[in-house]
Amino acid sequence: MTARVQELLERHGRAAAVYQAPGRVNLLGEHTDYSGGFCMPAALSFNTLVAASPRSDSLLRMHSVDFGEWAEVNLRNLQVPAKDAPTKWNFYCEGVAWSLAQETGIALKGADLTITGNVPLGAGLSSSASVEVAVATALLGIAGQTLPKATVALACQRAENGYVHGSCGIMDQYISACGVKGNALAIDTRAMTAELAPIPEDLRLVVCNSMVTHKVAGAESDYAIVRREVEEAAHAMGRQLRDVSLDELVAARNTMSDEAFHRGRHVITDSARVVRGVALLKANDSAAFGRLMTEAHASFRDDFGASCKECDLLVEMALELEGCLGSRLTGGGFGGCTVSLVKADAASAFAETLQAEYKSATGVVAQVFICEIADGAGKV
Ligand code: ADP
Ligand code: MG
Repeated sequence: MTARVQELLERHGRAAAVYQAPGRVNLLGEHTDYSGGFCMPAALSFNTLVAASPRSDSLLRMHSVDFGEWAEVNLRNLQVPAKDAPTKWNFYCEGVAWSLAQETGIALKGADLTITGNVPLGAGLSSSASVEVAVATALLGIAGQTLPKATVALACQRAENGYVHGSCGIMDQYISACGVKGNALAIDTRAMTAELAPIPEDLRLVVCNSMVTHKVAGAESDYAIVRREVEEAAHAMGRQLRDVSLDELVAARNTMSDEAFHRGRHVITDSARVVRGVALLKANDSAAFGRLMTEAHASFRDDFGASCKECDLLVEMALELEGCLGSRLTGGGFGGCTVSLVKADAASAFAETLQAEYKSATGVVAQVFICEIADGAGKV
């Protein structure tokens, strides 16, 4: 048992089972997961841990170690928070109980949950999905129920969409539930299936947090605005962007706003990059895969228009460093982290230099992580 799990159990204070679900980094295919497209995330060894024990009543009592707060709801009487209510950490937990009951009809039992995580919050590594999937796994575990992993992911997405009022696609919850150690997954978000995309053992994913935070939840978040424009492109085409070719989009350019056209073009090209990327990884062509990541950044910056100057700087700096095969902003955009594909023997020096150069350019100390690719959610 790790020290983190031990400490969590001590805080929980009674016999409990412990469940975990990881955060993620996305390698290719950004903003494609609500267009039925492809994306390629990997689960990280950063995760949320939940210690769970059953109660004899129908209360869900939640303790966030990281926020130092408690919350309580009655599972028989869950009310969706108002859209304009400030988002609270416990919404992500209650929301999962709400959506599991709604979608699966499973009668959940009252429970005490103690929750802690080490996924950086709001950095684009999807701490929210890791909380949702960890809580869902815990609630199902103590109810003695199992569901297909993809169903768990859908219920968690529904929690974020319908209870937290955050407009996310399925990528984050899918990878948190279904991730496979040592691999990214090339996810077909319409079929809800995935192909393994093996990351060679002599390479590392180095994640660098620009420390620029974004806002995901709420109707007027950057994410919601962007998403509306992607949906405008789909609406103009009369079908999901998954089914639209680049030529078709170009031919229909005057039927949509400029923003919708550029957002749509990124979604179509980035989804296609996932299909090319998985083939390159299977053929062990890491160099070409790295170039594809860098190309994806250019598309996200120039076409999609959702990068930020700090992340552009991190990508530029990364590409100049020894052993770096590719680099891009990862996650929803407007800040957060970059991910770089780096030769394992160069990774430590890469991480140190990138941090030092970013500090001297911006005055900001970026968090840099040499990541391990972990399995998806489960009992610890
Ligand atoms: P991210 O990109 O990290 O998913 P979000 O804004 O979507 O950013 O989600 C962050 C929110 O998720 C936090 O503000 C908090 O409400 C919840 N959250 C994340 N990690 C934890 C945690 N360890 N404990 C409690 N709540 C958490
Ligand atoms: Mg999130």
